[in-house]
Amino acid sequence: MLVVMKAQATQEQIQAVCESIEKLGFRAHPLPGVQRTAIGITGNRGEVDRGNLEELPGVSEVIRVSKAYKLASRDVKDEDTVIRFAGTDAAIGGHNLAIIAGPCSIESRDQAFAIAELVAASGAQFFRGGAYKPRTSPYAFQGLGVEALRIMSDIRARFGLRIVTEAIDNESLDLVAEWADVVQIGARNMQNFSLLKRAGQLRKPVMIKRGLSATLEEFLMAAEYVMSEGNYEVILCERGVRTFTDHTRNTLDLSIIPAVQRLSHLPILVDPSHGTGRRDSVLPMARAAIASGADGIMVEVHDHPENALSDGPQSIYPDQFARMMDELGQIAPVIGRNLPQGVRVETAKA
Ligand code: PEP
Ligand code: MN
Repeated sequence: MLVVMKAQATQEQIQAVCESIEKLGFRAHPLPGVQRTAIGITGNRGEVDRGNLEELPGVSEVIRVSKAYKLASRDVKDEDTVIRFAGTDAAIGGHNLAIIAGPCSIESRDQAFAIAELVAASGAQFFRGGAYKPRTSPYAFQGLGVEALRIMSDIRARFGLRIVTEAIDNESLDLVAEWADVVQIGARNMQNFSLLKRAGQLRKPVMIKRGLSATLEEFLMAAEYVMSEGNYEVILCERGVRTFTDHTRNTLDLSIIPAVQRLSHLPILVDPSHGTGRRDSVLPMARAAIASGADGIMVEVHDHPENALSDGPQSIYPDQFARMMDELGQIAPVIGRNLPQGVRVETAKA
């Protein structure tokens, strides 16, 4: 169910409706929009008796939301969600494209700083790097853990880049939430419901990567898990699904972009690195992703991919990243978008 407030409803009236919902034993999710606030109701098994709610001051109407994912749905919030980062002009969603770039894994301070400097110079606003790696083999490099988080925190201080990094379990979630700007939930964890719920208790943006065989509905339900706990800052990321093709590591499903955008207000990014697994395919698919309406790109960049401890073959060189930025900058205006050049950090006035 969804309570639609009148455009002129006051904050007190919104608060009073939320309290009435909670008194009924349900959870209220106020979602402010440009025109009006909608309040999603979750926790109800059947239909909520709308009678009393409709009578409350400031309420316009109470409507049924039939979709399984409610808070992620456009039925509840029609306008696109834009996630902003305090103290900077960086944003994910909306008119400006978001570019997240960096190595698959943080391997050392020198490696991470060298790559961060290059991607910042080419205009990225976000830096990625794995501290905790979900590897197929237990013998493969598992990440530097907290040391990597410290390195990335220093990168944020030095270059202004906002940090995106993955949490693989409850322990790493707490640490990642402490150090990062965006908490990434990886493809393999897209249906780790207890982890999603814990991510929902954070007050920090969460980026969910599409599971290797996840349908659109399952993908949106993963977002719903996070939102149902009160964290509405969710970003989706298409990273390819497993099919019979063997010319790429995964099949990048760009047709999910308009499908997500039809159903959901959440931003959707595309990861052409894991989506293809091949350096020579990353740039063409990044172009296609932006052309098909993605809100941004997450891409793996390495200055010495031949020595990378993970995902070298799909990591592009810094000069290829610079070219990618140039080309995406040309495509953006054709589809009414803008590619910002880097991140502006507001410095505190003395
Ligand atoms: C990653 O982005 O580092 C990663 C491991 O991706 P995925 O979860 O999509 O495989
Ligand atoms: Mn990787």
